[in-house]
Amino acid sequence: MAKIIIANWKMNPVSIEEAVELAQATDYENLVMCPPFPFLKAVGSVISKAKLGAQDLFWEGPVGPFTGEVSATELKKIGVQYVIIGHSERRKNLGETDEMVGKKFVAAVKNGLIPILCVGETWEEKQSGEKEKVLKEQIKTAFQKLKIDPPVGGLKLKIYVAYEPVWAISTSGVNSHPDRPEDTLETIAFIKKVLSELNYNFDIKFIYGGSVNLQNAGDFLQHEEIEGALIGGASLKPEEMEKIITQI
Ligand code: PEP
Repeated sequence: MAKIIIANWKMNPVSIEEAVELAQATDYENLVMCPPFPFLKAVGSVISKAKLGAQDLFWEGPVGPFTGEVSATELKKIGVQYVIIGHSERRKNLGETDEMVGKKFVAAVKNGLIPILCVGETWEEKQSGEKEKVLKEQIKTAFQKLKIDPPVGGLKLKIYVAYEPVWAISTSGVNSHPDRPEDTLETIAFIKKVLSELNYNFDIKFIYGGSVNLQNAGDFLQHEEIEGALIGGASLKPEEMEKIITQI
């Protein structure tokens, strides 16, 4: 099966015209384009090969008194098929907890959006030997919620788990260098073990995110166990994306 690239535009670009231009320049099969909310509709209307993804959702809905929030139903109505859940920038800047991430995860799955659940340890957690504990807790909290509150009729769509070591994300300012592919493989194996011990038998794909760019994409994507990449900074550069996409 072809691998997937999740293009996380974060809070870029600044105008709808630039968003449309970037979308047209990076409209590839097996790419999920995740622009900011205000550009979703415009981007969705100009892409024909890529799929549309959102960077977040709220767990309540379809409507309600939740100022500033967006529901899964509202996203689906404008053609969104994928949603990033629990990105470390939201955990850090907005105080999203494992509990909140778990609720969003369940809301996505129950409403038929394909979740890209982000998990990963900070530099401090890695240094103090807490990486596995942190990952286990992040995974357990989200999947336990799904087990308690499964979608009616069973799970029909796949789930993506993105291992994103926080320190490796280009904007983290800590080290901002990618993980080593062999360490990513070990971590994915660990996450799979956690899921199997917990008997979570869903259709899960595992991807890596953290400073993936033209120079290193092949090092990660050559491995069968790494089923795609979540790309932030480089997803804004059409010339890089064109070359990365040929490697999946
Ligand atoms: C991200 O947005 O999750 C990410 C991995 O960003 P970058 O590729 O810029 O490190």
